[in-house]
Amino acid sequence: MYDIAIIGLGPAGATLARLLDKRYTVIAIDKKKSKAGKCCGGLLSPDAQRALARFNICLQKDVLVDPQIFSVRVMDLDNHIEAFYQRFYINMNRAKFDDFLISLIPDRVETCYNTVCTRIDKEDYTSYSMELKTNGVTRTETAKIIIGADGANSIVRNTFYGNHKIHRYISIQEWYEDRTNSPSYSCIFDKEITDSYCWAISKDQYFVLGGAFPVKDSGRSFEALREKIKKSGISFGKAVKREGCFVCVNKRLTGTCTGKNGAYLAGEAAGMISPSSLEGISYAMESARKLAEAINENLQDVGRRYFMGTLGIRIKIIFKIMKMLFISNRILRKIIMKSGVKTIRAF
Ligand SMILES: Cc1cc2nc3c(=O)[nH]c(=O)nc-3n(C[C@H](O)[C@H](O)[C@H](O)COP(=O)(O)OP(=O)(O)OC[C@H]3O[C@@H](n4cnc5c(N)ncnc54)[C@H](O)[C@@H]3O)c2cc1C
Repeated sequence: MYDIAIIGLGPAGATLARLLDKRYTVIAIDKKKSKAGKCCGGLLSPDAQRALARFNICLQKDVLVDPQIFSVRVMDLDNHIEAFYQRFYINMNRAKFDDFLISLIPDRVETCYNTVCTRIDKEDYTSYSMELKTNGVTRTETAKIIIGADGANSIVRNTFYGNHKIHRYISIQEWYEDRTNSPSYSCIFDKEITDSYCWAISKDQYFVLGGAFPVKDSGRSFEALREKIKKSGISFGKAVKREGCFVCVNKRLTGTCTGKNGAYLAGEAAGMISPSSLEGISYAMESARKLAEAINENLQDVGRRYFMGTLGIRIKIIFKIMKMLFISNRILRKIIMKSGVKTIRAF
């Protein structure tokens, strides 16, 4: 019996596995098979940079990609206007970033890759059992505490906290050979395509186009986006790969759930992601830090300490929900963009 089992080794799970005290026996599993990495824009926000700074972690340059971008071009296709805003992101390779965080996990944590958790049961008041599958072989492990750091379609959340509903969208990204002669980062708003938003970003020799779409007709919405972007005059080469995954879009605060009674959630599984920008790496690392603090004190009353510790994150999400309501409104967005507040002139 392990003290703690972590399902998922994205930024939340890897950070938690690194920070848990050495007095605990910990198993951490992830279903990842390849080095392809998660479908992600791969932009490290100032909040995520601050989280790394708090951990005194530096990034090696091979995690970064070309080019580093200093502005975002907002294309409002509903109102036919565009504006540029200064931004302070780091453009990076998401797969290498996740691998880097995993490389920091101490050896005392038992890590299992290519292993999917297919079922979880509460055994009694003090333990959970997990069914794990590796290369078709099934085994069962038990732990006193189970942590869902398993992203937008979390098995821990779906098993124990299905009543905390959260909107899930489908994200689709397609990578093309880059033909644009000026690399850029664009945010695209178009109500006919999605009530969330879409993006285009240059990464090394690729042009990446993506968006978050309501599940129904997500494929068709992506095709519509591609056609509109082509018509806008942006030219890109042959498609190289397409990727997709669920993404949580937290439209109500009830979508955030930290867990209780030995089954806790961290990162996107807990609904901790910005609904306006879909930025989630900082939330994943911060929630993992708070959960580690709560567990490292002792194993009693973890749920209350973790809930209280994440109050700041939940307040931040409330502001992001309000921001989302604002920017997804066509008229309000037009007023903001036309006002010129915080815009920069592009020459
Ligand atoms: C298209 C897209 C673009 C995004 N762009 C950005 C961006 O530019 N910047 C940013 O900050 N955020 C971005 N986000 C959000 C960000 O990717 C997530 O919020 C962040 O990855 C959450 O981290 P996590 O550790 O909670 O979950 P994840 O990174 O999703 O990790 C979950 C892990 O759990 C594993 N797993 C899942 N289920 C199981 C199971 N049953 N058994 C075993 N393992 C399992 C998965 O393999 C995965 O490794 C984007 C999201 C999407 C979808």
